[in-house]
Amino acid sequence: MKVGVLALQGDVEEHEQAFRKAGEELGVGVDVVKVKEGRQLGDLKALAIPGGESTAIGLLARRYLEKLRDAVAGGLPTLGTCAGAILMAKEVRDSAVGETGQPILGVMDIAVVRNAFGRQRDSFELDVEVERFGTLRAVFIRAPAIVRVWGGARPIARLKHPRAGEVVAAAQEDSMLATAFHPELTTAAMHKYLLELARGRA
Ligand code: GLN
Repeated sequence: MKVGVLALQGDVEEHEQAFRKAGEELGVGVDVVKVKEGRQLGDLKALAIPGGESTAIGLLARRYLEKLRDAVAGGLPTLGTCAGAILMAKEVRDSAVGETGQPILGVMDIAVVRNAFGRQRDSFELDVEVERFGTLRAVFIRAPAIVRVWGGARPIARLKHPRAGEVVAAAQEDSMLATAFHPELTTAAMHKYLLELARGRA
């Protein structure tokens, strides 16, 4: 099964490894493609959009953002982590500067606030209860918070934080998953779910 990791910045290998582990656990042969061009999207069965700097990723993918949007909105099982979740959100603000006007995919009915938990040194990790996946170790690195969920999306994990208050840490809409944290660093469970969605068995 051919799956892709959007490979424009960092955090790519972690997603590749998570996909491979997920494949091993399911007994499915997985061929992981580093996606750098729109034409690579055609025959993918699942996609991960990694963390990094969402502004940079959006700009680097600018030429094929439309193609990417069509693929994800068209049902390609997709996991967006941290910056990836920002790209998938329909509404994006930054905790310091407000409106960002950055290029996004805008495919999920969620609103995010970038850098909601503070700066790099305010990064943290903790156990989060995630619907369907159980308790996951969640690493938040200059993470966004999902502050509103509507329409077709629903929250699957919540978090109480001294600064950000009670926010959503992960959401799902059809075959799209968005996490404020980095599951690829601690678990292959979500990648496994994408493969199951791709096989039509989830
Ligand atoms: N702070 C980054 C952004 O706003 C996201 C950080 C991450 O992906 N770990 O785009």
